[in-house]
Amino acid sequence: MIFGLMFMTVLFVAVGCVNTYAAPSVTIVIDPGHGGENEPNSETNSGARYNGLDEKNVNLVTAQAMYDELSEYGNVNVYITRDVDTALTLEQRVDYAKSVGADVLISIHYNASADHNFFGSEIFTSAYGKCYGTGHALAEKIMDEWVLDGNIRKDIKTRIGKKGDYYGLIRHGTENNLPTIILEHGYLDNDRDYQRINNEEAWKRFGVLDATGVAKYYGLEKYVVKESIGPDKEPEEPSEAVRPDESEPTGVRLEVDNYSSNKGNVDFTLYAYDDESRLLYYGFKTGDVDDDTVFDELELWDGKGGKLTGTYHLQPGYEGKLTAMVYNVYQLHTMSNSVDLVPNEEEEDDEEDNAVVDDGESQGEDDKMFTDDFQKEAGEDWIIGGDLPKVDTTAIANAIDKNTESTVKSSYTGLIIAGLVAAMTIAVAIVISISIASQKRKKKKRRNRQGNRDVFDWADDYDKDRWNNF
Ligand SMILES: [Zn+2]
Repeated sequence: MIFGLMFMTVLFVAVGCVNTYAAPSVTIVIDPGHGGENEPNSETNSGARYNGLDEKNVNLVTAQAMYDELSEYGNVNVYITRDVDTALTLEQRVDYAKSVGADVLISIHYNASADHNFFGSEIFTSAYGKCYGTGHALAEKIMDEWVLDGNIRKDIKTRIGKKGDYYGLIRHGTENNLPTIILEHGYLDNDRDYQRINNEEAWKRFGVLDATGVAKYYGLEKYVVKESIGPDKEPEEPSEAVRPDESEPTGVRLEVDNYSSNKGNVDFTLYAYDDESRLLYYGFKTGDVDDDTVFDELELWDGKGGKLTGTYHLQPGYEGKLTAMVYNVYQLHTMSNSVDLVPNEEEEDDEEDNAVVDDGESQGEDDKMFTDDFQKEAGEDWIIGGDLPKVDTTAIANAIDKNTESTVKSSYTGLIIAGLVAAMTIAVAIVISISIASQKRKKKKRRNRQGNRDVFDWADDYDKDRWNNF
């Protein structure tokens, strides 16, 4: 039996070796970004540090999960530049990848922004030749996995500096003809991302997604050694640098369609365009703004055809400026015009009046409602303020201003209807106020009879008076 097992093992190893020789394979080097102790006055080695996390450690968890996952596929050799917390230069990482015959180098990172307002997942690739072609196509497959898993696409980008590719790792990779990509999984310093990626489970999950993207790009299968692998398409090889978008969004204009000051709701339409890249965020600021103003609490742009409508919530009763900012995926941004928000007085009166009416109904227990002041207030406001302001005379006037006959006709119809509504409202209000007045007289009488009562149910008493005393 033992001999049998040994024989089988030898056979498997032999067959495995033959297969490895015969089958095509791809070599992936995974690079957990950063690592080691920080140099004085530098946080390069720790990477982003927020919410008690060091990016270098988070990177390592994701990278190791990616390593484990990818190792389960056939036709692939997987290496990792570091599996402990140690410092490596960018050159050392690329040199190591070259030394093991890497086809691609994939660097694992998490993000942070100066103003802590950005969120989403992005991938950087070389801007040049085959390194762009392979890097970009591979990045698309990884991004697909991320987005399917609910992450926000902050896109796949190039970034060019004075010496070529802006990021040192990508630049060294390109110099060595090694397609190199940097995966920025999400922002550790922004709640919108952080809430989802604040635990080890989430960091490992990203590693699995990264491995799945790589496997899909090369057409790999788990536990299967295939006779041929991908990619399905020859990677692009652009003859010129693929430049990032370098221009801000244009035509950024804010229009306030309606301001309900008592609720602090601003119904707005925001216009913005970008021919070269996708719009990504927008945000608002109240008060005075200048170039240094930080637009925090950004929202995802989901406008169509350069136009986005929505409702922005601010402090009820706010009076002052409102300004919007729109960002594209390259974080280039343009500020809108400022709109002056003025609280709507009619609406505020309406709210106050409703409050008085509510008082009458719900606080009937309170004796003070029977003071003369209240009678006066309730009597007047109920008739004048309660329902009449709902006839929108401005809208009718605007409708008449418009020249089309049908509009004018319908606005006259509107006027007649408004008149009828107003007349009925006044009639109802008079009836109600007469009822209140008589009911108040009865209450006074009753109170005199019963002395001071702490609890006084308005509705009950009203019925009693009505049925017993009339
Ligand atoms: Zn990093």
